[in-house]
Amino acid sequence: MKKREKAGIGRRLKGFMLKRVHGMITCREFEEFIGSYLDGELSDRERSRFERHLRMCRECRQYLQAYQQTIEIGRAAFSSPDEPVPDDVPESLIDTILKLRASNKTGG
Ligand SMILES: [Zn+2]
Repeated sequence: MKKREKAGIGRRLKGFMLKRVHGMITCREFEEFIGSYLDGELSDRERSRFERHLRMCRECRQYLQAYQQTIEIGRAAFSSPDEPVPDDVPESLIDTILKLRASNKTGG
């Protein structure tokens, strides 16, 4: 059974630990990799580091999810011009991404 982490210490150490443990990328690097990752442009090593961070970091999972949804909506808008894109969805997603970006910037 696992003891629950003390929230304060966990938060302070998180960026540091992720970086230290097996060359884990930081949330900031994760953000920079997202575009390449979704385009399939990362090397095997980069991708495995990216995915390892993804498994350990809930914030980045949410960030990636919002990012992917935004891209899919964008693609849908281009590939099927007959289908109307709901006006409210992209805005809320962009808002989510901006909030996540802002909270990520304080780390590291
Ligand atoms: Zn992260």
